[in-house]
Amino acid sequence: MIGGHSAYRSYQAGCNLAKVAKEYALSLGAVLRLNTEVTGLCRDGAEGRVAGVRILENGVPIAIAARRGVIVASGGFSRDVPLRTAHQPTLVSAYGCTNHKGATGEMIRYARAVGADVLHMEFIQLYPCADPKTGGIDKFAFDCYSGTGYGLIYINKDGRRFVNELLGRDAVSNAQVGSCEKPTFSVLNEAIFRKMARTEEELEKGVAIGRLYRGDTPEQLAQAIGIPENVFAETVARHNEAIAKGTDPEFGKPMNRQMLPMSEGPYYAIAQWPSVHYTMGGLRINTDAQVIDIWGDPIPGLYAAGEVCGGVHGTNRLGGNAIAECIVFGRIAGINAAKAGL
Ligand SMILES: Cc1cc2nc3c(=O)[nH]c(=O)nc-3n(C[C@H](O)[C@H](O)[C@H](O)COP(=O)(O)OP(=O)(O)OC[C@H]3O[C@@H](n4cnc5c(N)ncnc54)[C@H](O)[C@@H]3O)c2cc1C
Repeated sequence: MIGGHSAYRSYQAGCNLAKVAKEYALSLGAVLRLNTEVTGLCRDGAEGRVAGVRILENGVPIAIAARRGVIVASGGFSRDVPLRTAHQPTLVSAYGCTNHKGATGEMIRYARAVGADVLHMEFIQLYPCADPKTGGIDKFAFDCYSGTGYGLIYINKDGRRFVNELLGRDAVSNAQVGSCEKPTFSVLNEAIFRKMARTEEELEKGVAIGRLYRGDTPEQLAQAIGIPENVFAETVARHNEAIAKGTDPEFGKPMNRQMLPMSEGPYYAIAQWPSVHYTMGGLRINTDAQVIDIWGDPIPGLYAAGEVCGGVHGTNRLGGNAIAECIVFGRIAGINAAKAGL
């Protein structure tokens, strides 16, 4: 169980999905153009079809005609500070970003330039457990999120819990930004790390590089991260009791049978702070993955799939569900674009 979910529904597949899709596309004769930037969409004035794209390939401008259609799959705009602050003024550049450097919104601008409509641009998800130093996500930042179902707790600099750890990313991030000083910490013990299949070697390395703080007792861990020892020890004891009783009187967290009490060390803490992660807004599409224009009509020849689309997840995407969207709408867009113009 992970934050925001009401059931066990997350499955970790890793990047193997992209590898398989890439190999299959290549086997069918697809051509991959690396070091190539799309710089615009071309819409035919007479027929109104999107007839191709303009690109810069290794710095050389080229126009490519599309025989059947263009599918925009350019991802979200988490790294596009002007675009994200235009819609969500609080998300200034001081916020880190978990996404790759290509997560910029120019394809949304180009699609708008040929008439596309957008929606939900103001709904931008923060990941509450990013590394406060880099703004990025490493394996320990993933553990901070996945460990909540096993009894990992979030604490502030006073050594107290401040939120129901199983709430959605928006609620946890709001609680951090609204009431805590940077950073907050995830706290867990070795038994919880074992549940997440972390090895001794990984933990040693995490401590050596200063990403993990360790203590044999809650008091020792509190010293290591500079928070009040007694308050923190009480916080751990109270949460252990909540697990034993199956109820969390402080924050109403739904306790479950997977949760382990932190009754034995070593104890670990991981610093965490919200970072811009996912953009729920983007191009308006219909169930055929056609891009819809500002009058509500499909733009002939233009399809979109993945994070560039808006409105598919509503105002807050559940962790683990984006890949499903990419696969489902990517497939629909591919099938429909292949049929078009036949
Ligand atoms: C750290 C992290 C962890 C995540 N973990 C999960 C998870 O566990 N489960 C889950 O479901 N989702 C997860 N997500 C979300 C999910 O990975 C993304 O929503 C998804 O990968 C988006 O896929 P996409 O194909 O739409 O876009 P992307 O994967 O972002 O690919 C878009 C590509 O288009 C390129 N591009 C953009 N503009 C242009 C242009 N003008 N010209 C040429 N190329 C361009 C970009 O450089 C990029 O290569 C995670 C996201 C992050 C950041």
